[in-house]
Amino acid sequence: MTTSTTPNPPRHVDVLVIGAGIAGINAAYHLKHSRPDTTFAVIEAHESYGGTWLIHTYPGVRSDTELYTLGYSFKPWTGPPYASGEAIRTYLGETIEEFELTSHFFYNRKVVSAQWSSEQQLWRLSGTDSSTGASFEITTNFLWMCHGYFNHDKGYTPDWPGLDEFEGRIIHPQRWPENPDLGGKKVVVIGSGATMATLVPEIADECASVTVLQRSPTYFFQSPNVEPLADQLRSLDTPEEWIHDIIRRKSVAEMKSLTDIQQQFPEMSASALISMVAAQLPDGYDVASHFTPRHLPSEQRVCRILDGDLLKKISAGRVTMVTDEIETFFRGGITTKQGTTIPADVVITATGFNLSVLGGISFTVDGSEVDFSKSVTHRGILFTELPNFAWSFGALRLSWTMRIDLVSQYLCRLLAHMEENHFGVVQPVVYPEENSPLHEFINSSQFNPGYAQRSRNLLARSGSTPEWQLSLDFWAESDQLPDANFLTNSLQFSSRGKP
Ligand SMILES: Cc1cc2nc3c(=O)[nH]c(=O)nc-3n(C[C@H](O)[C@H](O)[C@H](O)COP(=O)(O)OP(=O)(O)OC[C@H]3O[C@@H](n4cnc5c(N)ncnc54)[C@H](O)[C@@H]3O)c2cc1C
Repeated sequence: MTTSTTPNPPRHVDVLVIGAGIAGINAAYHLKHSRPDTTFAVIEAHESYGGTWLIHTYPGVRSDTELYTLGYSFKPWTGPPYASGEAIRTYLGETIEEFELTSHFFYNRKVVSAQWSSEQQLWRLSGTDSSTGASFEITTNFLWMCHGYFNHDKGYTPDWPGLDEFEGRIIHPQRWPENPDLGGKKVVVIGSGATMATLVPEIADECASVTVLQRSPTYFFQSPNVEPLADQLRSLDTPEEWIHDIIRRKSVAEMKSLTDIQQQFPEMSASALISMVAAQLPDGYDVASHFTPRHLPSEQRVCRILDGDLLKKISAGRVTMVTDEIETFFRGGITTKQGTTIPADVVITATGFNLSVLGGISFTVDGSEVDFSKSVTHRGILFTELPNFAWSFGALRLSWTMRIDLVSQYLCRLLAHMEENHFGVVQPVVYPEENSPLHEFINSSQFNPGYAQRSRNLLARSGSTPEWQLSLDFWAESDQLPDANFLTNSLQFSSRGKP
């Protein structure tokens, strides 16, 4: 297993990757294999690798998509398709070791500012070493942001009325305490998404009561945690690399069919999902209130329940659903707008994330502060206003990693193009007449998770053509991105050493 020692990073690298989660490890793999002469480092604020899968330790934390696609194309997944946070982190650690990436990773280093100099054609980054409190600096020609999409320091908790008066304990799953002390307690879990659905079955039996308080319901798909084709192939002694590739292709094809069906037949998809849940609940259960979402299935991720665990706990009377809004907290619990009083010793706020805009780093270009919301994205990877800068943003309709992999390959190709042509700088240039009006970074009519809705004004904009948009269509993008031409008016290159 990779250790988390923190040697000093080099003073300068050709490419600097920020973040040692799924995306940063993927970037490191591709840099090492496609750009063997490029120097690079991965700088990580936490004490170790894993990102999402390091900081989330709440009971039941696991993937919501299967690991044949959440894992990497180059490292077979050999366990059950849906995996615990710990198993995912083990897989990521093995990846770092197996592909000899360890020496490129530098932990406990939080980058706080980045300054671009056009004259020097480089970024100067500074930050703090959290293990010593000392500051550090590093320069790079190309900055590759793999900071994910949510702020790791603090989860999102709405500012509910009366919160200060509540005398019980409040826990956000993003910072799960070592001793939550839930035994025999009246617990309210606020939230409706994947975190709620995975946490609640795990704690339901130890608590005196568990009430899920949700403002609006989510779609659930339920399945066992098995992949019969993988098991069959394994029984035939098929090499793990083949099994991984076959199941990965199968999953991507299935997700495509599902997405097409959800988009072409939204009402039918909605009622099929709702019926699947209703079939697992006792006769007469109020499915209309608690499991009939107001959005369409294609607009947010459909959460997965394994072996019906959440529904079994509801059916057994261990979990009560309340679909309503919070009126106020009081000393002993919560009152809802429709007048329900829910007593609580502990409230778990599974209410999601705060968006991380540029990893909390303040950016300047030639001394001028960058306002990210004024920049326009090129393919959801590069950004106007930010030279030699990229963000690995993953897939939203299937496993995050599937798009991360495409982006890594695109960026390695871009770096090769720059080297071959002696270019020192690349920057997208948007022509307003071709690109107005501007739109949101994530098109909310197609996909509208809460964190993006709450922070849409902070993110970069999209233009009117696919070249200027974050694609939500992985299948189209996986055809286009590998051949995307860099000789386009919208990418401006400057020769090396000539600003
Ligand atoms: C509980 C949970 C379950 C999920 N399940 C799935 C799933 O099943 N399928 C799926 O596709 N997605 C899932 N996701 C989304 C998940 O976040 C992504 O799949 C993926 O793990 C994100 O990887 P990442 O490397 O892009 O970002 P992250 O995992 O967020 O890692 C980013 C890293 O960058 C570091 N960083 C940020 N800013 C700085 C800075 N200024 N200086 C230094 N370091 C910095 C952070 O410390 C962090 O380690 C889930 C998310 C959660 C929270």
